[in-house]
Amino acid sequence: VTAETQLGPGAEFDAIRALLERWGPLAVGIGDDAATLAVPRGEQLVASVDAAVEGRHFRRGWLSPREIGYRATAAALSDLAAMAASPVGILVSLVVPDSWRGELLEIADGIGEAARISSVPIRGGNMAGGEALSLTTSVFGSVFTPLLRSGAKPGDRVYVTGSVGGSIHALRAMEQGEAASRWRERFAHPIPRLREARWLAEQGATAAIDVSDGLIGDARHLAAASGACITLDAANIPCVDGVEVTDALASGEEYELLVTSASPIDADAFASRFALPLTEIGRVERGTSGDVRVIGARVANVAGHDHFSR
Ligand SMILES: [Mg+2]
Repeated sequence: VTAETQLGPGAEFDAIRALLERWGPLAVGIGDDAATLAVPRGEQLVASVDAAVEGRHFRRGWLSPREIGYRATAAALSDLAAMAASPVGILVSLVVPDSWRGELLEIADGIGEAARISSVPIRGGNMAGGEALSLTTSVFGSVFTPLLRSGAKPGDRVYVTGSVGGSIHALRAMEQGEAASRWRERFAHPIPRLREARWLAEQGATAAIDVSDGLIGDARHLAAASGACITLDAANIPCVDGVEVTDALASGEEYELLVTSASPIDADAFASRFALPLTEIGRVERGTSGDVRVIGARVANVAGHDHFSR
């Protein structure tokens, strides 16, 4: 987008002006053809992009327009958390069908909320018409030493932040037409664990991934990248109230962090700092690369979420 003073007449520019007005100080440095992002000397730029598409990732009626904007942005920021990066900016690309035009400012409010709680400015974007509502969010962060999926070693402990399983139940309820389930908030309002990730990296975490495909699916990704296998203990999985462990292991789009560490991490210190549990749930072991075993639960049919498998 171009500067307010340079925005020409027309519906598209009116809509962009309205968005910028809505975001106020959350939108920073908008007014050139591209955004400039400053990264502290010696740190690396970390970038990720994520799409949320109506009919694919959410349905109208499941979420309010504000929640749609919030969730798309929070999910994108969660990938920066997985790298233990500090966010420096986001770019928002919206495809807005005519039937959604009336909800645009509420969507913007949700995007703004996610940006605000993550202390990251909106640095630019794009808007176009189209058939389905879609929000493509590019996120940029900086980090001195990124946490990678590939850093886990046999013997490392495996931890997860928060509790898991709410998202799969919320999704099931929504698919059955029950929008207001007790787990709804877990699906509609995930919190990117940005500060938590940086703290965990400082404590010596060796690898991390955010839980988007399910605990088992993401443990497989991490194990494969690290050339190791992972054993999880079902009895230790922190399940959301009312959720079976098999569901908690399979539940995607949780946006909690799965991290490994060679030395024990002080879970009490984590809990008092972030008001969130940190739970040791397993070990990295020598074995077939990418294997995940679960002790104490029948998970033969548990598969991680795969965007192309259904
Ligand atoms: Mg991820």
